[in-house]
Amino acid sequence: MPAKLYGFLKKYKLLLTGAVLMAALCVALTFAGVQNDRYAIDASYDEQTHTLAVEQVIHMTNRTGETLDHLCLNLYPNAFWEQARAPVIKTEFSHAYPHGFNAGGAQVGSVKVNDREAAWALDGAQKTFLRVQLPFRLRAHGSVELTLSYTVTLPNNRLRMGYSDKDVRLCNVFATLSVHDGDHFRADAYSAVGDPFVSDCADWDVTLRVPDAYVVAGAGLVEKKEGAWVFKGRDMRDFALVMSKDFHVAQTEQDGVSIRSFAYSQESAQEALDYAAQSIKVFSDLYGPYPYPDFSICAAQFYVGGMEYPALVMLDESLYRTDDGMLEFVAAHEAAHQWWYAGVGSDQVNAPWQDEALAEYSTLLYYESVYGAQSFDSLYQSMVRPATENASLKGVGVDQRLDRFESAALYDALIYRKGAAMLHDLRVSMGNDAFIAALRKYYDENLYSIAAPSNFLEALGDNADQALGWLKGAKP
Ligand SMILES: [Zn+2]
Repeated sequence: MPAKLYGFLKKYKLLLTGAVLMAALCVALTFAGVQNDRYAIDASYDEQTHTLAVEQVIHMTNRTGETLDHLCLNLYPNAFWEQARAPVIKTEFSHAYPHGFNAGGAQVGSVKVNDREAAWALDGAQKTFLRVQLPFRLRAHGSVELTLSYTVTLPNNRLRMGYSDKDVRLCNVFATLSVHDGDHFRADAYSAVGDPFVSDCADWDVTLRVPDAYVVAGAGLVEKKEGAWVFKGRDMRDFALVMSKDFHVAQTEQDGVSIRSFAYSQESAQEALDYAAQSIKVFSDLYGPYPYPDFSICAAQFYVGGMEYPALVMLDESLYRTDDGMLEFVAAHEAAHQWWYAGVGSDQVNAPWQDEALAEYSTLLYYESVYGAQSFDSLYQSMVRPATENASLKGVGVDQRLDRFESAALYDALIYRKGAAMLHDLRVSMGNDAFIAALRKYYDENLYSIAAPSNFLEALGDNADQALGWLKGAKP
């Protein structure tokens, strides 16, 4: 080989290696660009004062495509300061606050941006939006580290955030970054009806320090060491914890998912565990793998019934004490939310049907799978059909914003039940296999993102117009 040519080839090889390295770097940068935001939390609970002292570090990347001079976070505990603005349905007040109203909320100590004190303000009627002024302009794709110190006072109540003589509910307690809608940061009120929370998936490292007697339910338990419970959750749009000194724990594994059940007796824990495991099996088979390594189902003093968080659901303790079958129904509904809400997120304020109708209809599919077609049919006739015949819902589309509802009854009938009727109509038209294939596609393509209604319609293919009829009110 002539030396000159060899030299050229050597140079070419160097260039080629350089190009490969550059390409690898670009790929690495691209992946770095889509990395989740990170929340690192160290929280200590004082059971004498019912307060939680929180140190929270948030590493976020500006994905808005614009330069930002401020950031906005949801600080939901502040919705509990004033009775008139608390997220409780007025006619149900005595269930929510059996000992009368008592205030709760977050007191912000300091806010730092990249270790420098930053100016901040609380906005919104409920003061649930923490607006942080950045001491510099944060360009698109730039990253920043926020450090928040705040103390949350828990109210004695039976809502998502609070304590009772049996439990402590730390749900929607930690600050979350507001979602940016392209123009500005979302500022959704903490409404009494529905679940008014919209947030992007992030990675969470949470350490909770509590007195020794407590048992803490939370996603991704890593270890418990000297009163410190350490949790690690990935791809989670929120992080909730429930604790009690009276918890009994039962655990099992299903489809590779570690399942733990927390309740006030071993029998109750075992019963809920069985429903949880059965739900994970049914929905994994139907839609695709459960989105996390573990799942916790826990009893709580939560009078509303059931509430979903990523890899954790809480069920009101009263459900465990009656044998009307509602424990199983609510357990299956909340487990279904791990696919529709936690896995595939959606806009729960502007399109609450998108997770609730799917969770409700999935619950009926759970009964069909476990107990047969007759069980599905009897639930359909008793729960779903009446919503399609409800005179006040005639011509009303399933696609309604949350703030349209003052009563949970109407919200349930339209969003859950008539929404489930829409899905059943689609299943009958498409045939079971094509319908389930569409839901699998929707799940697969939108996992860990916030899906738009159009993403759901796309997955339906030729049947999108049929769904639109229900959503917009052309159907019954
Ligand atoms: Zn639900």
